[in-house]
Amino acid sequence: MTTDARSQRLIIVVSGPGGVGKGTIVDALVERDPRLWLSRSWTTRERRPTEREDAYVFTTPAEFERHEAEGGFLEWTEFLGNYYGTPRPQRLGDPDAPDIVLEIELDGAQQVKKQYPEAVLIFVLPPSREEQERRLRGRGDPGDKVLARLRKAELEEPIGVEQADHVVVNDELDRTLDEMLDIIDTERRRGRSERS
Ligand code: 5GP
Repeated sequence: MTTDARSQRLIIVVSGPGGVGKGTIVDALVERDPRLWLSRSWTTRERRPTEREDAYVFTTPAEFERHEAEGGFLEWTEFLGNYYGTPRPQRLGDPDAPDIVLEIELDGAQQVKKQYPEAVLIFVLPPSREEQERRLRGRGDPGDKVLARLRKAELEEPIGVEQADHVVVNDELDRTLDEMLDIIDTERRRGRSERS
């Protein structure tokens, strides 16, 4: 790893199966730690009635594909019939800018790790499959989507656990957040000591 590669903003990738609570976690992380900045993804899926208008940049497939062709995404994927992508962050090489948090699925996490091996991949697991299903149903996804997401989760979990730098079980939100903020602080210190 070169000195230059480390004198950048930290990229923290939060990944894990649907219904594990990633969205709640990343919102709370950036609220608790002002040195974190949450990247807003683009998607072609419909906005859920329960969802904020700025949860994503909601866009059309044509617009998404145009942006992709222009090199506008750091990574992107197709997830259960819709596109999702992370816009290329600005000022990546500016160590004084806040560290970047990405909340993305596993394929995207792997793409980021390939481009930036120093990115920190935190894989979040549900406390149980039953709890995950309850959370998925609770947010209003249609039944067939819930089943598809559960199936995908079962397939991807072992891969995510193996590839992650850190695995965290989201059993109780406050405890989970404390553990993740500790991980982030440790990674920041490591970055500094590798630079010096
Ligand atoms: P949802 O439809 O539930 O909001 O998101 C579906 C999945 O796509 C989740 O696992 C979420 O983390 C992931 N996701 C959201 N934004 C992005 C993105 O920009 N890139 C990738 N690869 N996955 C994303």
